Amino acid sequence: MSTFAPTPASSQRLAAADRDHVLHPHTVFGRPPEPFIVDRAEGARIWDVNGDPYIDGTCGLWQCAVGHGRRELAEVAAAQMSRLEFYPSFWDYSNEPAILLAERLLRLAPAGLGKVFFTNGGSEGNETAIKLARLAHHSNGQPERTVILSRTSAYHGVGAASLAATGLPAMKEGFGPQPEGFVHLSVPHGLKHGEHGEHATDILVAELEATIAEIGADRIAAFIGEPVLGVGGMVPPPEGYWPRVEAVLRKHGILLILDEIVTAFGRTGHWFAAEHFGITPDIIVTAKGISSGYIPMGAVLIGDRVLKMCEGTTFWHGFTYNGHPVGAAVALANLDIIAREGLLERAKAMGARMHDALAGLSQLDHVLEVRGLGLMLGIEFAEGVDAAAIAQGCREDGVIIRAGVGRVVLSPPLVISEEDADTVVRVLAERIRAAVPAS
Ligand code: PLP
Repeated sequence: MSTFAPTPASSQRLAAADRDHVLHPHTVFGRPPEPFIVDRAEGARIWDVNGDPYIDGTCGLWQCAVGHGRRELAEVAAAQMSRLEFYPSFWDYSNEPAILLAERLLRLAPAGLGKVFFTNGGSEGNETAIKLARLAHHSNGQPERTVILSRTSAYHGVGAASLAATGLPAMKEGFGPQPEGFVHLSVPHGLKHGEHGEHATDILVAELEATIAEIGADRIAAFIGEPVLGVGGMVPPPEGYWPRVEAVLRKHGILLILDEIVTAFGRTGHWFAAEHFGITPDIIVTAKGISSGYIPMGAVLIGDRVLKMCEGTTFWHGFTYNGHPVGAAVALANLDIIAREGLLERAKAMGARMHDALAGLSQLDHVLEVRGLGLMLGIEFAEGVDAAAIAQGCREDGVIIRAGVGRVVLSPPLVISEEDADTVVRVLAERIRAAVPAS
């Protein structure tokens, strides 16, 4: 059996081969970065090929709810692969793990969701959700309802529609004309509206109403949004935002797609962030935490309203690996772990611990805001602070965090220990205190 166990001696060769042969996402052509080659991982810790340990303050791309190195999930995958590695689930074909996972997801989800459509990840989920929303209106006798409302700073993926819905202009540059019919509202961030958010919800809801009036509700299919902006900086919306947005959308017959690719399965302290905000979306898109990243998997939860609108229409859509039995089996075992180990409560408790420990940083002149919900934490800096240098410094100190433009974010595995969480906070706080904004 072949296993991979790079050694410090082989790491130089690997690094050269990586630079020569691998094109990494979000890197510059012709300037391959010096790779950080991860060798193994356990809990909230990872080790590089030199054997150096790091605390994983972001769990990669926020996918790893249950922590790394769970033998139980590997064993479930191996057992399922030995029994049935894969058979498609187009038409009438199905398999037991996928059926049981759909049943489980609908039991955990907010009321009003009636069916599950499986994917391999987030972008596929949002492509699916946007097609579904448009198809629902089409089937319901309103084919002109195609416009999708989204928000500035949103990240919904890299497919045609999911990228068009994304509100980060740099990500669209050079890829040719973007699909029509996507309108971006303001970033739902208290800090950027009114006196530190006091009137933010009023401003944002008024903007939504005005945009609907301008476009015409009869041309709008859906509103898509992350409950808490993730890539945009771990930004919880201002107080009362979601229920008021939902009420406006309902009034105008506009469907609500909630992109819970980061937030579902515990990260906000709930199975779904929709519960925290008290809303009932028409479609919930999930991925990442559904399998904790042990295997690519995603699921789109479809509301009864949408299903009724689509009644009698053929859904000409599906990815080859829809309902993958190994993905579904791993997801079921992963959900078992989240429930058995009380990880929703743990996300709340550890999120509060880390947030409280970081909150004092907002007294610094160069820190604008410390924010978050559950184990999604973001720190926004004043202009001139080099967030990338702070993240790099943390890594040199054995802690992995993620830098964005003018901010850093944290999203450790939900199982992170108190000791590791305190180390992450201490290292990050030291680096932030030492950061001097460029004038
Ligand atoms: N939506 C959100 C909120 C995300 O954070 C991401 C990825 O980070 C995506 C969609 C895209 O998911 P994927 O990279 O699995 O296609």
